[in-house]
Amino acid sequence: MSVIYDRVALIGLGLIAGSMALAMREKGLAGQVHGYARSAETRDVAREIGLCDAIHNDVSVAVKDADLVVLAVPVGAMGDVAAEIAPHLKPGAVVTDVGSVKQSVIDAVAPHLPEGIHFIPGHPLAGTEHSGPRAGFASLFRNRWWLLTPLPDADEAQVARLEDLVRGIGANVERMDPGHHDLVLAVTSHTPHLIAYTMVGVADHLRRVTDEEVIKYSAAGFRDFTRIAASDPTMWRDVFLHNREATLDILGRFTEELFVLQRAIRMGDGQQLHDYFTRTRAIRRGII
Ligand code: NAD
Repeated sequence: MSVIYDRVALIGLGLIAGSMALAMREKGLAGQVHGYARSAETRDVAREIGLCDAIHNDVSVAVKDADLVVLAVPVGAMGDVAAEIAPHLKPGAVVTDVGSVKQSVIDAVAPHLPEGIHFIPGHPLAGTEHSGPRAGFASLFRNRWWLLTPLPDADEAQVARLEDLVRGIGANVERMDPGHHDLVLAVTSHTPHLIAYTMVGVADHLRRVTDEEVIKYSAAGFRDFTRIAASDPTMWRDVFLHNREATLDILGRFTEELFVLQRAIRMGDGQQLHDYFTRTRAIRRGII
C-alpha cells in the first residue's frame, strides 16, 4: 500500500494509538509516525518496543508538520489536548480522535481548532481490556468497524482520505451522526461495561462468598461476562461522565427488563423466562 499521510502524530500512546502505529507502519501508510506521551515511563516503553519513528515529550514538537494528528487520550482529556496543540498545527492538517463518545468530544475539541484545520471525529469499535503501549497489536482493527462522525461542513476529500487510512489498517468504515453514535454505543458497549463492573462489585460485597472463592470458582458466566470489567478505570469513568444521557436512558430500560425477569422468577413463571430467553438467544446468535 502507498503512503496516505507523510507525517502522522499520535497523542497518548496507549492501546489504540499503539495499535494504530504498528498497523500503519506494517502497511506503509504513513511516511513517519511520531508519538507523544506525557509520562516518561510510557515514552521509555514506546522506545523500547519501537512503536514510532520518533517519541516526544513536548506535544508541540510532536504535532509540528504533522499531516494527520490522532487524539488517543481518555475522552475527558480531549479538550485540553486540543487547546494545547492548536497553535502548533500545520495549516491544512487533519485532526481526528478515537474517543468512545462523540458529541462531547466534538463540543470539547472543535472550538479550539483554528480555521483551515480539518477535524474529523472517529471511533474504532475495537479494543481489549488491556491498556498502555505494550497492549497494542497491529491486527486490532482488522474486520472491525471504525465509525467516523464528520461535521456537516467537513471537506469530502479529507474525509475520504481518512477513510482510506482506516481501511488500510484493516477496518470497515461507516459514517454516523454523533448523537446517534452515542446512543448506539450506550447499548452495545457502555451499559454492558457498567453492568460488568457492577457484577464484580456484587461479588465483592457478598459476605458469605469470599473474593478468593469468586476468583477460584469463577464459572463460565462470571468469567465471560465480566472480562470487560478489567478495563481501564480512567477511560470508563470518562465514558460515563461524557455519555450521560444515553447511558442513563439505556440503564433505565435495562433496570425495567431486569425487574420483569425478577418478578417472573419470584412468581415461578417458567413460560415467561423461556419465551424471553428464546427471543434474546435468537438476537445474540446473530452476532458473530
Ligand atoms: P490507554 O489507557 O491504553 O491509553 C491512553 C493514554 O493516554 C495513556 O497512555 C495515558 O497516559 C494518556 N493520557 C491520559 N490523559 C492524558 C493527557 N491529558 N495528555 C496526554 N496523554 C494522556 O487507553 P486506550 O484504550 O488507548 O484509549 C484511548 C482512547 O481510545 C480513549 O478515548 C478511549 O475512549 C478510546 N477507545 C478505547 C477503546 C478500548 O477498548 N480500550 C476502544 C475504542 C476507543
